[in-house]
Amino acid sequence: MGAITTDSEALVVGAGPTGLTMAVELLRRGVDVRVIDRADRRSPHAKAIILQPRALEAFARLGLEDEIRARSLPVRAANYYTHGRRVARINFRRLHGSRFDTPLSLPQDETERILHSALSEAGGRVDYGQRITALEHHPDRVVAHCGTVTHRTTWLLGCDGAHSTVREALEIPFEGATYRQEFALLDGVWETPLAHDEAHYFMDPRGVLVVVGLPGGRTRVFASVPAGGTAADVEESVRGFAAERCPHPLELRERTGAGVFQVHRRIAGRFLAGRVLLAGDAAHVHSPAGGQGLNTGIQDAHEAAWRIAGVLRGALPEESLAQWERERRHVARTVVADTDRQTRLWTCGGWRERLRDLTARMAETTGAIDRFLPARLAQLDLRYPAQGATRGALAAGRRLPDVGLPTGARTHDLLRDGNHLLLAPADRSPLARRPDLTYAPLDGGSTRALGARRPRAVLVRPDGVIAGTARLSDRRALRRLERLLPVEQRKPGTTEQKPEAA
Ligand SMILES: Cc1cc2nc3c(=O)[nH]c(=O)nc-3n(C[C@H](O)[C@H](O)[C@H](O)COP(=O)(O)OP(=O)(O)OC[C@H]3O[C@@H](n4cnc5c(N)ncnc54)[C@H](O)[C@@H]3O)c2cc1C
Repeated sequence: MGAITTDSEALVVGAGPTGLTMAVELLRRGVDVRVIDRADRRSPHAKAIILQPRALEAFARLGLEDEIRARSLPVRAANYYTHGRRVARINFRRLHGSRFDTPLSLPQDETERILHSALSEAGGRVDYGQRITALEHHPDRVVAHCGTVTHRTTWLLGCDGAHSTVREALEIPFEGATYRQEFALLDGVWETPLAHDEAHYFMDPRGVLVVVGLPGGRTRVFASVPAGGTAADVEESVRGFAAERCPHPLELRERTGAGVFQVHRRIAGRFLAGRVLLAGDAAHVHSPAGGQGLNTGIQDAHEAAWRIAGVLRGALPEESLAQWERERRHVARTVVADTDRQTRLWTCGGWRERLRDLTARMAETTGAIDRFLPARLAQLDLRYPAQGATRGALAAGRRLPDVGLPTGARTHDLLRDGNHLLLAPADRSPLARRPDLTYAPLDGGSTRALGARRPRAVLVRPDGVIAGTARLSDRRALRRLERLLPVEQRKPGTTEQKPEAA
């Protein structure tokens, strides 16, 4: 085959969940995208199984809600046991302000299949068998070499997983550590009295055993292998750990998947270098505790794509991507710290174990566990470092709650068109007349449901994050809000103002 050169506005390297989400989002914004992957075909591996509400909300904005709901299993609670006795229970059904009131269990290969369909519906495809081996970085473009194929692109999106070649080519350090113990997992049909639509964590100083339902009557059982040990025969090892750590019957009837994996906690030194972004596992990896990895990658992509499209069209300054990097590094650091704490708590012994169990019992008795943990695990309460007022439910950098409006629609339905959204009392905001800005009126009831006491104009980014708010009587604050909009959304004749970072 002769040498081939391609040109694109964006090149997505890696067709895992992060790269696929990135490509679908960019295509629906009219960006000329190519997607390449070094593998020969789509991955058949189930890997991640938990989809958290915040990532599910991003999928809902892409129109994937019905299919994901139809194929997944709601996970209604998580139970924690010490020496066989339950010490705490988190009820996910207490989650408010989202259309997804629980996480959903869906094997990663299914999630990827759904994303592949969305990609081809949007007119895209993955070019398999193309492995990036070298990059050239120029001020106005990036050139990626894949054997006989050379890709020239304006933005290169490194979604190529934990062993990212893109990250290595740019010599960006991947700081952190590797956990001493390995994990072994066995998916299949397990016979057990444990509730199928709940997660069960059997904690023990020798190692943890986790049981989580999968759709189609299957269950995942995974366990940490004690440090220094190996799981040479995965099935035998997981059966042995189940017998040792779980006091309830857990019998494997049919095996559908198995594997051993190493767990790391690492964050890339930068997520943005010139015209290259790193997202998903290429940028951060962490323990599977709480099922956050795939979710964080999907949000990285969802939150980068509208900015990349805006920068490509000249509607947003490149500083907008630096803002993305600051926000996503903040999220990655939070997730790595939370999952690390949880991983250590799984297997602590002695006084630490007693203190952990006492705290868990108290948190359950006082209701604190259900007030804080479901929203934290769902990543709904994460607040981004933002400019402007820092207090209140509608402070800049918070996620917009998904509540009903006087029109009958829900706030998040209005984000499906991919535009910025303005919520303000009916017809009283001058911003509401802008073309390309979705506007919805707020009444007293919906203002209160959003958690605000007084009517305000609320500007929401396409990724559901609040960009800013203003009192309608405060003209300067309204002008500040207006400056957060991409230039192309302004009325003709008003585009001479320099765009600010959204
Ligand atoms: C057993 C297991 C269980 C897990 N459970 C959970 C869970 O419950 N919840 C959760 O959120 N996360 C979980 N995770 C983590 C989750 O699987 C990852 O976070 C997720 O796959 C990351 O997606 P990604 O798209 O960023 O990277 P990947 O899925 O790794 O995709 C990277 C893609 O890039 C391609 N690629 C690599 N190098 C190159 C190159 N040089 N050129 C071109 N293409 C390249 C690869 O072929 C691959 O297709 C689990 C992981 C494992 C292993």
